[in-house]
Formats: sequence, structure tokens, C-alpha cells
Amino acid sequence: MSRADGADAPYWNGLEEGKLTLPRCDGCDRWIWPAGHRCGACGTTGVHWVERPMAATVFSWTRTWHAFGGAESLGLPFTTVLAEIEDCGIRLLGRLDDPDRIDPILGEKLTGQIGRTQAGDDSIPTIIWSRAA
Ligand SMILES: [Zn+2]
Repeated sequence: MSRADGADAPYWNGLEEGKLTLPRCDGCDRWIWPAGHRCGACGTTGVHWVERPMAATVFSWTRTWHAFGGAESLGLPFTTVLAEIEDCGIRLLGRLDDPDRIDPILGEKLTGQIGRTQAGDDSIPTIIWSRAA
């Protein structure tokens, strides 16, 4: 499955270009996620994509200790966060740069940068979150 042909293609293309872009409704200006071709709140079919700073807070997280197919390149353990993007409420899954295995705190501030995740033969652009200084 290609990442670049669905409703969220601008998201993936943005990551490839080094930026986070998220969709917003042309009609009511709500943030729309998951990306769609139609706003679930007002029915408008127009969506525009807005570049956002990679600033978020920890909404939830987990640490993975057991290997599973496709994630071998990450090493073990690795920490995944559900990061709530500042000022828009959209929550995105990403990896936490967590070399010391310090448990994240819900609401903790994060900053992101774009890295890559190798999944099988596929190299996927990925937001790597770090604790904000
Ligand atoms: Zn709308």
C-alpha cells in the first residue's frame, strides 16, 4: 500500500520534505484527523493543509519489550508515544527518543524531528519525539 495516494498523502509528503502538515476544514476550520476528504462536523469537502511546529504533549505512551515482525530495526526496548499536537488536539503516534528509559509523564512537553523507521524493506518517515528542554 502506498502512503502517497490516500487522503493523508499530504501528511506523508510533508514528512518526506521535513515538515509536519495537518488538515483543516475549509468550512468550519476544525482540525481533521484521521485525514479525510470530508469534514465529519460540517460536511464540507474542502480541506487545506497547514504546516505545524513539531511541538506536542504526551497523551499516552507504551514501551515495547518483545520483538515483532517489521519492527526489528528499532531494537528493544523502544518507546512509542501518542503525542497531542499543540494547539490543535490532533494526536499522532511516534517514537520517543528514550535511551535512558525514563517513563514519560502524561502532559510532558515534546519536540519532534523527522527520522526514518525501517519496516521490512520500507523506509518510513517518522516523527521522533524528544523531551522538550
Ligand atoms: Zn468542517
